[in-house]
Amino acid sequence: MYAGNLVELGSKADIFHAPAHPYTQGLLRAIPTLATDRAMPLATIEGTVPPIAQLPPGCPFEPRCSHRVTACARELPPLVEVRPRHWARCPVVNPHRI
Ligand code: SF4
Repeated sequence: MYAGNLVELGSKADIFHAPAHPYTQGLLRAIPTLATDRAMPLATIEGTVPPIAQLPPGCPFEPRCSHRVTACARELPPLVEVRPRHWARCPVVNPHRI
């Protein structure tokens, strides 16, 4: 969920090992592991969640998304089946194995 919108739906394995939505990918990149370099700042997602009363007209993650294209700001993207039984509300980015 992001800003009140379902952004990704799938099995636990797909979500954790092949996230398709840039927000999910960013959340998972922010989880420190034993291999995380403690001398480096933790990964974050730039920006903040917009107020529910001031959501942008297109993808609610668009202001924070490093993958955005012009069309992302126009209308809420549909949920797209990116793999069997795995959906993401992003027509731009493909599942990313992490
Ligand atoms: S629809 Fe566009 S802005 Fe939204 S997550 Fe996908 S690439 Fe980013």
